[in-house]
Amino acid sequence: MDFIVKKKRKKVLLSTVPMPEISMVNQVPGRKIDPAKITSVEECIKIANNESFLGGRSQPAIGLRFLKENIPSVDILEFPEWGEFNDATKQGYDVLGISFYTTNFNAAVKMAGIARENGVREVWAGNYGTFTPGASSHFDKIFIGYPDRELKSLIENEKIDAIRHPIITTPFSSVLPAGEEAGYLFTIKGCRFKCEFCCTKIFSPDIDILSIKEIERALATYKEMGIRYINIGDETFLQHRTHARRVLELLKKYGMKWFCSSRVDLITGNVRELARFGFDSVYMGIESMNDANLLDQKKGQSSDKIYRVFSELRENNVSTSGTYILGLPNDTVPSLKEDLDKLSRLPVNIIIFIIFTPYPELPIYGEWLTGGLITSHNWDEYDGLHVVFRHPHMSREELMGIYEYAICNVYSPYNYNKRRVLQRIKKLQNSRPGMPAMAHER
Ligand code: SF4
Repeated sequence: MDFIVKKKRKKVLLSTVPMPEISMVNQVPGRKIDPAKITSVEECIKIANNESFLGGRSQPAIGLRFLKENIPSVDILEFPEWGEFNDATKQGYDVLGISFYTTNFNAAVKMAGIARENGVREVWAGNYGTFTPGASSHFDKIFIGYPDRELKSLIENEKIDAIRHPIITTPFSSVLPAGEEAGYLFTIKGCRFKCEFCCTKIFSPDIDILSIKEIERALATYKEMGIRYINIGDETFLQHRTHARRVLELLKKYGMKWFCSSRVDLITGNVRELARFGFDSVYMGIESMNDANLLDQKKGQSSDKIYRVFSELRENNVSTSGTYILGLPNDTVPSLKEDLDKLSRLPVNIIIFIIFTPYPELPIYGEWLTGGLITSHNWDEYDGLHVVFRHPHMSREELMGIYEYAICNVYSPYNYNKRRVLQRIKKLQNSRPGMPAMAHER
């Protein structure tokens, strides 16, 4: 008699870190903020630099949604409260997988402890936070990059032939009327560029192209749902010209307007043509208006090119947003003031400021650690809001002062949400005469 021994499938829960641990500067899913209710200037400064708040866009846990779509036996928990997470881990799971960033490392370790106390046998780790030094001593397995295929075979003992695209919608109030939602679309995961400051080249050095069939299925579903606007979530849309061309044809076929993240060099000279396919809004890394920084960071753009592309976008009525990094190695206080002055003349609707952060997976972290330039080993501070290194030309206080100055002084008059929160800062300061002036006023 033949006995077929079937391996029992593991019961797996995948979770993000709890909502209270999500930094205000990062995407805040579904959180409504009323500036009139904020009671401190410090909190206002954070909100005034919050992409979710400024753009009226929230970011679901996309990675987990993809995993659920492709590995249906797993359960997922998106941005739970701590109590909810505690309760979930009492439900007899064999494995807890935690998706986290470096700044949430301490929270992820706490989650692992809670889960083990509640009887979960294994704790796995995924996402950028897995590069945090010491991670392997806290988690039973570590997954680098997009783990859909690896997890499918580990959990369900099956192969993924083609990644399935989940249907995900989100409010996007800076471009859509209240109540209307945009559909998320991924066409390629990963980025082929190698900007020095960016961790994506380490996290996902190869690109994974989603099939045109799957992309069309997602677009057709969105169309049926009455969705008219697509938020393309790729790290760098248009990085693969042939694939992008086919996606553009589909976007046009389904009559979608769309937003994407991309690069200056991929957009320049193409705006009018892209607009024919529904191009409506773009997010780009401006990073610096200092050409020496842009060259060192291998960004493939100059301040002149940045000017030209933003003007081209404005001429074609494409709305724009971008990130700007403060504290890159060539920055000084006077050079930053000059660069921020140039930046304020750029026709860009939303700018998010980030303090340069040498994340532990970047080569510069090792170099600076050896050179004694890393001043903070508290991973909570690796969030783009804190100064965690000794800058060659600026003190910590000077850099923080420039950060506040930039948030309060460089913004588009068309950005209604930002104006509201800046007005709130003024009101708070006027109502409390003893309140110390923020750096931007000195
Ligand atoms: S293009 Fe963007 S995602 Fe790609 S390496 Fe540069 S900063 Fe990172």
